[in-house]
Amino acid sequence: MEMVFIIIVPFILLMAGASFLVVAQVSGFIQSGSLNRRQHFSNQLIQQNMIQIAMAQSQIAQRSTELEVLSSKLVLSNQELGRLNAMKSKFLSMVVHDVRTPLASIRGFSELLLKKNMGDKEAQYLKNIVSSTDQLGHLIADLTDLAMIEAGKLKMENAVIDFVDIARDIIPGISVNAQKKGVDLVVGGTLPSGLIVNGDRFRLSQVLMNLLNNAIKFTPVGRQVELTIRSEGRYAAAYVKDSGIGIHPSETKRIFEKFYQAKYQKDEKLRKQGWGLGLSIAQEIIRSHRGEIGATSPGLGKGSTFWFRVPAGV
Ligand code: ADP
Repeated sequence: MEMVFIIIVPFILLMAGASFLVVAQVSGFIQSGSLNRRQHFSNQLIQQNMIQIAMAQSQIAQRSTELEVLSSKLVLSNQELGRLNAMKSKFLSMVVHDVRTPLASIRGFSELLLKKNMGDKEAQYLKNIVSSTDQLGHLIADLTDLAMIEAGKLKMENAVIDFVDIARDIIPGISVNAQKKGVDLVVGGTLPSGLIVNGDRFRLSQVLMNLLNNAIKFTPVGRQVELTIRSEGRYAAAYVKDSGIGIHPSETKRIFEKFYQAKYQKDEKLRKQGWGLGLSIAQEIIRSHRGEIGATSPGLGKGSTFWFRVPAGV
């Protein structure tokens, strides 16, 4: 029995050791195989990513070349646009200058002829000529201002003035227009005294005249236009309120763009009497005075109020 023990136990231990070694070898082999496969898989992934990165890089390079070509084209187009714009401004000022002189002589001679004895029909024809030349004269004046604005040459000749004087200068002439049209022009409240501004009297009168003439133009016969002038904090302000065709809410700002005429207003005849320039010029003048200009309206057919204000004081 002892012999059996002495032989079998070492044998069993030997076998167990050998099996352990085999198992360790096999599992090591299996593990290293799976490690290799993982490594291989990772390498493949890295390679794929690197290919994709390289492709993306070449696409970026291609796009940036395209962008460079486009931006150089844009530079050329901008230069061309600048050149065309300069040509347009030059053409505009040449036409304006060349039209003004013959227009003045047509008007002058028509007025001269009006003083002669003639029939009613002939006199009416001459009056038509005079009023048409006046309309053209307004357009020429607006185009001159536009050309000056575009060339950056619209300069304000500022002086210390009484703000109310800009209204006093123009009310007599505007009242005649209002009477002719059958619109009642009234001054609201009392005109403030001693409301001093540092501004261009001619240009500020031009703005007020434009607002009043528009108000009269867009107000039906028998209704009212009211001018109010008042002091508002550190500003001198003018309000022109009419009871005319009104403005659609979407257009109260757009009408200050050059050549813009309200689209929602249905009256073709009124639209044809203008060019959509007056308000854009007025806005430029008020900006030059560091002031503000705007329009409000409760809606189409409900009248509008146009206003502007410029800093008061010297
Ligand atoms: P014009 O009157 O010569 O067309 P303006 O620049 O003075 O040019 O005015 C631009 C547009 O603003 C007008 O065509 C008109 O549609 C609108 N508008 C101006 N004043 C009034 C007003 N008092 N009531 C209603 N619409 C007005």
